[in-house]
Amino acid sequence: MSQRIPEPFRIKMVEPIKQTTREYRRQALAAAGNNPFLLKSEDVYIDLLTDSGTGAMSDRQWAGLMTGDEAYAGSRSFFRLEEAVRDIFHYRHVIPTHQGRGAEQILFPALLDRRHQVKNVTDPVFISNYHFDTTAAHVELTGSRAINTVGGAAKDTQTYHPFKGNFDLGLLQSTIAEYGADNVVAIIITVTCNSVGGQPVSMENIAAVSRIAADNDIPVVIDAARYCENAWFIKHREPGYNNRSIAEIVREMFSYGDIFTMSAKKDGMVNMGGLCCIKEREDIFQAVQVRCIPFEGFVTYGGLAGRDLEALAIGLYEGMDEQYLDYRIGQVAYLGDQLRAIGVPIQYPTGGHAVFVDAKRLLPHIPPEQFPAHALCNQLYIYGGIRGVEIGSLLLGRDPKTGIQKPSEFELLRLTIPRRVYTNDHMDYIVATFAEILKDIDSIKGLTFTFEPPILRHFIARLRYID
Ligand SMILES: *Cc1c(COP(=O)(O)O)cnc(C)c1O
Repeated sequence: MSQRIPEPFRIKMVEPIKQTTREYRRQALAAAGNNPFLLKSEDVYIDLLTDSGTGAMSDRQWAGLMTGDEAYAGSRSFFRLEEAVRDIFHYRHVIPTHQGRGAEQILFPALLDRRHQVKNVTDPVFISNYHFDTTAAHVELTGSRAINTVGGAAKDTQTYHPFKGNFDLGLLQSTIAEYGADNVVAIIITVTCNSVGGQPVSMENIAAVSRIAADNDIPVVIDAARYCENAWFIKHREPGYNNRSIAEIVREMFSYGDIFTMSAKKDGMVNMGGLCCIKEREDIFQAVQVRCIPFEGFVTYGGLAGRDLEALAIGLYEGMDEQYLDYRIGQVAYLGDQLRAIGVPIQYPTGGHAVFVDAKRLLPHIPPEQFPAHALCNQLYIYGGIRGVEIGSLLLGRDPKTGIQKPSEFELLRLTIPRRVYTNDHMDYIVATFAEILKDIDSIKGLTFTFEPPILRHFIARLRYID
């Protein structure tokens, strides 16, 4: 059982959150078409929809906002950010972007163009341990395919494995052979691996992937949204790293990549921002700069205000603070362990940023096409004012050709913990709410659509309960 680690900060400013009655929430959810995405955030007591851009900045970051240089070109705040990136990651070329997908949209087409110049590309693919959804979308927008090669351990929620985000190296090699190395535009290492539960990738695995890429002359892109959380897991779970600092581990992780994209809304500790950074390749840097201007803005601001650049330059260091990471990952583990203790099945062990509840196991009476994880999500809101999010059949959607619901490997309810926002008392409240839900778990009903959008349906779908 994990420890309850006290918050390594004190609170300087507070934002009141509204407590409502069960009846009020029942009505609010019905008015929102039984889809928590359509709730007003004011009607949510604890919001675990995402950890993206929902964290709290520190007093130093807020102070940094005041010193931001709003020059259109060559802002002092840009050079501070560039210096921070060079210091932390040892990557020479730095391009800010408005968020992670901004980096993806300026990088991927440039990589494909480059591959066409030097190789015989006939059927382009990108290979990852697991592409994040916007990452896969930007791969597909270039006309390439996004192939995932994560190891089998990720798919078994109940068995402990220290690095469920690892690539299956055999599968990676056979996939390269199958498509032909020339066709592989890049290998994307996602740390931590968001889509399989925020699960970490080991240093050994990162190094091995990098060697395989080099043998095949394929560039390595690190999808770096949770670089600090991944480094923390390496320190605590991988032999040989316990005495290394997080900064040293981060530097080694990034030594195995050529380029990184980052959603800075996660471990970058800001509410908006991203990065596209290139270790040394001048030609790729120039191609990405050319694409940056029409899509993101001039190359020294990339869609961000000067003050945002300043806050990010500070946040990149704060995310690596070991006391903070002990508390951060400890808080997620604490919530996961408490839930397990009362009999709630979760993806085990917990990853860096969220607890994933296995609704398929918890609600066997609700079939996938009636969205068990979504039904659980709604119950959590009604009982406790807590908003999670479904990661399962509702998210996956239908096959665009046949119109048939795609079979989902998982029916998960994700409880994503914002950074430095909620206390451990809030975690206890979440566990107490689950204990209430368990008392009449069999009475939870499945749902069906009253409005089903043709694509990305989970965001604005409206549903009703099935009697
Ligand atoms: C959030 C995220 C992205 C996309 O970043 P945005 O800032 O949401 O555009 C890409 N990859 C991973 C792993 C992410 O978690």
